[in-house]
Amino acid sequence: MPTLRQIAQLGHPVLRTLAESVDLPAGTSLRTFADDLLATMRDADGVGIAAPQVYESSSLFIVASKPNPRYPDAPEMEPLVVANPEIVWRSDEIVKGWEGCLSIPGIRGLVPRHQTIRARYRTLDGQELETEFAGFIARVFQHEDDHLRGIVFLDRLESNRDILCEREFRRLDPKS
Ligand SMILES: [Zn+2]
Repeated sequence: MPTLRQIAQLGHPVLRTLAESVDLPAGTSLRTFADDLLATMRDADGVGIAAPQVYESSSLFIVASKPNPRYPDAPEMEPLVVANPEIVWRSDEIVKGWEGCLSIPGIRGLVPRHQTIRARYRTLDGQELETEFAGFIARVFQHEDDHLRGIVFLDRLESNRDILCEREFRRLDPKS
């Protein structure tokens, strides 16, 4: 059974630290950690989570979009475990969309992101992959990749006016 981890909240220095690359292929402890990370994300209705969000400054995150109460319109995908990523190409097209963060509860922001990206990363088995992501999944990937570099979505906003409190966000039900 995976263990639910406590989620670090904004203000803890781990969220402002450059994460260390992980050794691959993953051993038992890293695989257990990835299982815990996924369970913690699901429990909190996230669509992605990065290792620093559970106080581990490691270059690992999960993208696992599916509809949930926090993101009712999210596309469904198999959970993707990403280790030691690098975004190697970004589209010129930028789109603004609503994001939240498990480490910044109660707040949503309208965040500009590249519409399409190409990323190089490794699986837990150590296989190197290069994959193109677009739309909401590219958004989640960029959000989680930022966590590995000590960046949170608030840093990406164009204006403080693009911040909403969660309760008002849910009343408005703005679509991204
Ligand atoms: Zn986040």
